[in-house]
Amino acid sequence: MFSKQTIQKFQHTPTPFYYYDLELLKNTINALKKESDKYGYHVHYALKANANNEILSVIQNSGLGADCVSGNEVKKASDLEFDKIFFAGVGKSDEEINVALDRNITCFNCESLQEIEVINELAQKKNKIAPIAFRINPNVNANTHKYITTGLEENKFGINVWELEEVVKRTQQLKNIKITGIHFHIGSQITDLSAFKSLCLRANEIQSWFISHKITLEHINVGGGLGVDYHEPDKNSIPDFAAYFSLFKEFLELRPNQTLHFEIGRAIVAQCGSLISKVLYVKKGVTTSFVILDAGMTELIRPALYQSYHKIENISVMVNGQGLMDNGKMPLAISHQPSSMHRYDVVGPICESSDCFGKAVMLPETKRGDLVAIRTTGAYGEVMASQYNLREKVKAIYSK
Ligand SMILES: *Cc1c(COP(=O)(O)O)cnc(C)c1O
Repeated sequence: MFSKQTIQKFQHTPTPFYYYDLELLKNTINALKKESDKYGYHVHYALKANANNEILSVIQNSGLGADCVSGNEVKKASDLEFDKIFFAGVGKSDEEINVALDRNITCFNCESLQEIEVINELAQKKNKIAPIAFRINPNVNANTHKYITTGLEENKFGINVWELEEVVKRTQQLKNIKITGIHFHIGSQITDLSAFKSLCLRANEIQSWFISHKITLEHINVGGGLGVDYHEPDKNSIPDFAAYFSLFKEFLELRPNQTLHFEIGRAIVAQCGSLISKVLYVKKGVTTSFVILDAGMTELIRPALYQSYHKIENISVMVNGQGLMDNGKMPLAISHQPSSMHRYDVVGPICESSDCFGKAVMLPETKRGDLVAIRTTGAYGEVMASQYNLREKVKAIYSK
């Protein structure tokens, strides 16, 4: 929900752009820390969800660690002095591993024996001991979109349980590797918390295996994946961190002095971002009308890539048309008047049929020049933007 002042500011800003509500971001982080601190859990922010400098500086200031999936993310997190840096990824290049070794990161999350052997070799050249965790594929279904499911045996990620014996035995022989923990990450946008319960039970079994092999693990890392409410961004602007963390407290068995780590991306940044765009044309189709925006899949690829839903709002009508109340809220009578609503396919200008933000979206009568907000786009939005069609790089503005 945008205030009248905010929408007026939008009207004087060239579109399209991302708008970030930094106050909501701070409130979200505070809510998260309040719940994770209860149990002494460590939270790392997954930079890949949004690596915008302003966003990162708010998050770094809050004291969260960093979860990186590329050498450049490691560099950035280290330049910004993030507290603890973890480095995951199924395809770390030698160059990226060297960056991470030079920056003395806290942990490499390793996905194969071959990768561990390469890290050992590169660490040896630098006369260093690399701390590693085994990323284990727990074969737990996250019940989310197939492109963002990562913890099933058919996925490319992690070490399978049946390989563990050999991988661990070989790793113990490597002189420049220190085994510090185990790591899991089962997917993203997980709204059914029972998937995390399954992960806990699986992690307990795997931990027992390590204990029976007399290997002490300093930490367990359960990855990220907590989902957000794309349908009700105003009602549920902050995810239910209490339910999330308490579930791990209840089901995951930690050993004495063992720390538990989380790598959360989407749940921290998704709701604070919106993509703001202007209507270029409204065009009649055979069965529907098209609202053609000046933003497209180059600014936000999620709908084209994952068929993802984002709430779409005509915010000009909120502020001009039927009038916003002084507190910036829409009068109920207007927001619930179905008769004044029309059905539109909301699309971008890119030469791809998948360049569509929403089909049969109900909006008030929409015309050229109206501002449209695509909500809940703070995660995997701006970071995935491209310059396909030689488009301009998308810009961002911020609330104070
Ligand atoms: C993407 C990713 C995360 C963050 O996932 P979210 O769904 O954004 O919380 C955490 N860990 C790893 C290894 C990842 O690849």
